Amino acid sequence: MIRLGGPLLGEEELHAIRAVLASGQLVQAGEVAAFEAALSEYLGAPAVAVSSGTAALHLALLSMGIGPGDLVVVPAFSWPATANVVETVGAQPVFVDIDKNAFNLDPGALAATLERLCGTAETRRRLRAVIVVHAFGAIGDMAAVAALCKGYGVPLIEDAACALGSTQAGRKPGSWGEMACFSFHPRKLMTTAEGGAVVCSDPAQIARVKSLRNHGLDSLADMPDFILPGLNYRMSEVHAAIGRCQLARLEALVVQRRRQAEAYSALILPQGVLAQAVREDCRHNVQSYVVRLPVSDAGQRDKVIAKMRQRDIETTIGTWHIPLTSYYRRRYNYGVGDFSATDRVFSTALTLPLSAAITETEQQMVIAALSETLQAILGVA
Ligand SMILES: *Cc1c(COP(=O)(O)O)cnc(C)c1O
Repeated sequence: MIRLGGPLLGEEELHAIRAVLASGQLVQAGEVAAFEAALSEYLGAPAVAVSSGTAALHLALLSMGIGPGDLVVVPAFSWPATANVVETVGAQPVFVDIDKNAFNLDPGALAATLERLCGTAETRRRLRAVIVVHAFGAIGDMAAVAALCKGYGVPLIEDAACALGSTQAGRKPGSWGEMACFSFHPRKLMTTAEGGAVVCSDPAQIARVKSLRNHGLDSLADMPDFILPGLNYRMSEVHAAIGRCQLARLEALVVQRRRQAEAYSALILPQGVLAQAVREDCRHNVQSYVVRLPVSDAGQRDKVIAKMRQRDIETTIGTWHIPLTSYYRRRYNYGVGDFSATDRVFSTALTLPLSAAITETEQQMVIAALSETLQAILGVA
């Protein structure tokens, strides 16, 4: 079976976990602080380690005081967590369509939405943030997105869950938004099993995130006191120890994945299959290698996934059309046609296997199988 991917773990991680267990200090000791320091140094901004990427997004919204009645702009095409955290704090997501080639938030659609929401005093007052997602690790036209947010005076949050290791015009994720959220789930480039981080340059905001992740405790006070209704979203010492080893592997992982993505490009995709359009100035970490198939609907794409599986090759969809998942469809009455680029990409996107374990011969097999499968399904010679 040629698998989609998987984490790269080694002796270093085993040794680090063993050391934490032997120390008996499983939480709130030196590993988390050391991991945060390493991440801060890499990204060039203070980082707070938390228990997942979703926890990071949730804390970003809570620390900004976003709650009932508020509006937060999010892309229609993402992992549901991007919108779920908005619902969870009692606010309402305002979905924006994506660019059908880049899979990132479409700056033109964002401009239209901001224009509409800022056009009336009532919605302008409720609009509290824009969340931009770096789709599959690729960083889109962030200059345009950041300029729009600045122009309308709306804080920007980067859902950089997939983007650690990517850059755009030499800048790292987290350098455009007021806050950025990262995930270390095993599907991402580097992993802590479960884990995430909030990155932010504002010391007051960082202090609120730290307090909220630890029951609302005021960590700077001489006497313990609880100043906010917080949660327990702390990262454990074991997870942080894995994270330190993985961060040391990050650059090598990016180089390897980029080499493999280039190999895919060189193998020539079957007629009509389009790879994700990545900006020239983006050094993509290739968290996922996602293509669009020349099929007409999700049914045909799912047939491709099933037929590839019969040939022992694991593929999957790109990511989710959030407004068309049951919860959002029911709550806000969304339908097909409301986000036409997302409709198209969601029903035709396919993620191909990419990992350190896959050889160029296997990539050749994937491309050949895809070509034959598409010919069989579309009935072309
Ligand atoms: C993975 C992911 C998340 C959630 O991260 P977890 O660590 O799994 O909670 C959020 N947003 C995006 C875009 C993701 O890819």
